[in-house]
Amino acid sequence: MRTTVGIIGGGPAGLLLARLLHRAGIDCVVLEARTREYVEQRQRAGMLEQGTVDALREAGAAERLEREGLVHQGIELRFERERHHIDFPALTGGRTVTIYAQTEIVKDLVALQLADGPPLLYEAEALAVEKPESATPVVRFRHEGRERTLTCDWVAGCDGYHGVSRDAFPAGTARSYAHDYPYSWLGVLAEVAPSGDELIYARGERGFALHSMRSPTVSRLYLQVPNGTDPDDWPDDRIWDELAARFAIDGDWTLHRGPIMSKSVTTMRSYVHEPMRHGRLLLAGDAAHIVPPTGAKGLNLAVSDVRVLARGLTRLHRTGDTQLLDRYSELCLQRVWQATRFSDDMTKMLHAQPDGDAFDHRMQLARLRRITASRHAAAELATNYAGLPLPV
Ligand SMILES: Cc1cc2nc3c(=O)[nH]c(=O)nc-3n(C[C@H](O)[C@H](O)[C@H](O)COP(=O)(O)OP(=O)(O)OC[C@H]3O[C@@H](n4cnc5c(N)ncnc54)[C@H](O)[C@@H]3O)c2cc1C
Repeated sequence: MRTTVGIIGGGPAGLLLARLLHRAGIDCVVLEARTREYVEQRQRAGMLEQGTVDALREAGAAERLEREGLVHQGIELRFERERHHIDFPALTGGRTVTIYAQTEIVKDLVALQLADGPPLLYEAEALAVEKPESATPVVRFRHEGRERTLTCDWVAGCDGYHGVSRDAFPAGTARSYAHDYPYSWLGVLAEVAPSGDELIYARGERGFALHSMRSPTVSRLYLQVPNGTDPDDWPDDRIWDELAARFAIDGDWTLHRGPIMSKSVTTMRSYVHEPMRHGRLLLAGDAAHIVPPTGAKGLNLAVSDVRVLARGLTRLHRTGDTQLLDRYSELCLQRVWQATRFSDDMTKMLHAQPDGDAFDHRMQLARLRRITASRHAAAELATNYAGLPLPV
């Protein structure tokens, strides 16, 4: 097989890149290791920055998102049994965020792709990227029981944190930075209307909790739990009781309870791989960086990488100009490091530290009080949460 851009991974990054390239008249092939059903059901992110919504619109993939997405004007912080609204439009000059599940973005992109191309191969597992320094890098992959090759002008490594693309960087050409957090999230998807209009970030001595939603009838809730937690140790009643305790305030508020459809435990890690390009291999999304989900940045970063990559490849295709592609890594990493910093700040401010002492606890409260008392500090949080400017 031969194509201009070989895309490894059919998650949000790979699918969106394929769509943007297709619209620019650049041919590509997407290789996805899993089945369509698996990829469409994988529960993950749900909060979209304005730039992410714009990118999906630009790709012609925002029709259902515009109909069904829930526009949010801010978030709520809860601590010491008080609630504080952070008003994004007032603090950022009118910006908002949109709630629309990653599963739905993937379904929308897959439907478009299967309707009018470019090719998307499921159960096609990339085994290795070969000769990334050459003018014709090759992706070796397994499909329908046979080993095959895809020869490309460019390879986009959109294969997530556990993919193979990063392995093609020869020793000494890249460096990675990682940090593991001493707690995890138990996430549940519940068939019940959200208990409020906004995301609620609650910090208490029992640990962190997050109230989120996927639609007007489906809630997504998270609890901070110790690393190594088995979800089976958390029967539904225990989860609801713990959520109710962590969200409790002095005043009127009720947590809506309902059937839990799924539960899983996610570990928390920050990871950045530098640079994001080697020769004609370019990494995008989780293949190059992951953040703890507290700042809701993972999916948004994947989309902003892809936007730069699509623009760089389109400019090259139309004018022969490689300037944007040459700066790809540098442009993306500036935003990646800022999102990593923000996610790290939010994570450390809101989670109970397993080995923390009374001083650490007071510091966390002082940080939260600063945000709720100072317009300047609140604006800093709102600006980062709603999304820093896109690189291009
Ligand atoms: C459990 C969980 C919860 C999350 N919650 C949030 C959240 O609340 N908010 C937020 O912003 N972010 C969240 N994230 C992060 C967010 O979902 C990711 O940042 C986002 O999925 C990145 O998209 P991607 O396309 O780069 O990678 P992925 O979505 O990981 O897609 C990569 C794709 O590549 C495929 N693949 C892997 N290896 C190969 C191979 N060798 N050959 C072919 N295909 C391959 C995979 O099957 C997958 O489909 C969460 C992540 C996880 C894991």
